[in-house]
Amino acid sequence: MSLPEFFRDEAAAGFDPASASTILTVDLDAIAANYRHLRSIGAGADVAGVVKADAYGLGLVPVARTLAHAGCTNFFVTDTDEGLALRAALPGATIYVTNGLTPGAAALYRGHGLRPCLGSLAEVEEWRTVVRHAGMALPAALHFDTGLSRLGFDETETARLIAEPALLAGIDVTLIMSHLACSDEPEHPLNALQLARFRPIRKAFASTPASFANSGGALLGPDYCFDLIRSGYGLYGGTSGPGPNPFRATVRLETRLLQIRNVPAGVTAGYGATWKAEAPRRLGVLATGYADGYFRSLAANGRVYVGGHYAPIAGRVSMDLLTIDLTSLPEGAVKRGDLAELIGPHVTLDEVADRAGTIGYEVLTSLGDRAKRLYTGGHLAVPES
Ligand SMILES: *Cc1c(COP(=O)(O)O)cnc(C)c1O
Repeated sequence: MSLPEFFRDEAAAGFDPASASTILTVDLDAIAANYRHLRSIGAGADVAGVVKADAYGLGLVPVARTLAHAGCTNFFVTDTDEGLALRAALPGATIYVTNGLTPGAAALYRGHGLRPCLGSLAEVEEWRTVVRHAGMALPAALHFDTGLSRLGFDETETARLIAEPALLAGIDVTLIMSHLACSDEPEHPLNALQLARFRPIRKAFASTPASFANSGGALLGPDYCFDLIRSGYGLYGGTSGPGPNPFRATVRLETRLLQIRNVPAGVTAGYGATWKAEAPRRLGVLATGYADGYFRSLAANGRVYVGGHYAPIAGRVSMDLLTIDLTSLPEGAVKRGDLAELIGPHVTLDEVADRAGTIGYEVLTSLGDRAKRLYTGGHLAVPES
């Protein structure tokens, strides 16, 4: 197997996986497979890649190029900085900026072919000024708020836009969109209510492609999918709703066992001395801490997988280290230098999030850049357009 470009870069820079303390492996083929899965469930809906926040911490360029090779042509980012980085990586992509039109940034949008998701009449007005200067129609999405009360036209503005189409003169509306507040709770009544609010909007813009569902929304059923699913978390292997995860895991976080130490009854481990050996115990010290994005809150009930067994965390997670209790593992199951799985096939992203009292989105976007990164599979070259 030939090494992907990013791995080769690391190798050239002296990265030897045998000596790395912590390794983050991103399976780009799994991201492509998740993309194809989403394409198959949306009753014909296309799927856009949401690659904000450095593709949820997994790496904008390798993720976006892999998605493009899998057939993804529409992308969503948060702001113009992310838009420019994506434009450099994918010259031919359609790029939507969800924060909308930030005041004074219109020239950037126009110059780099970024499409604002317009969410207020003030933004519409500003984009029309750009249109007038350009002397040509310019593309944008219209973002309608249907219940999240975050970005998007409110009810009054929505009614005005529908009643007065002239407000949009010169704007090439390429997409209408809205965003769900409770897609991870299928039974939540707000899902159906938001859908009911979106339908008349969709009707008023009948000839414009519509986008309503994020990853969780797509799992609510084909009714929610419309023309374009906007997926992030699902592509990266997470699922926040109930039921089995239909997506493939994409991330493996492994860290080195630095020391194994036998301690007598009565000793404590870690800052604050919160963990105490009730009997003689065997402890393992791992080379990852909260500075690597391994949440301090995992001390309460986190576990890792090492030597073919689960081991609980013993005491507080430090900045660079954490301690595990290896006492229940068979003699010889682990040795110094072994890798322990913190996130991966045995300790899933959603399990880690659950045990940390957060969501997998926060776990992914908290992964630091201290871990050595390995990309497997995927496509790292700019696709031919
Ligand atoms: C982040 C985001 C998404 C992607 O949501 P996932 O749950 O990660 O699939 C879609 N739409 C908007 C507007 C977003 O901000």
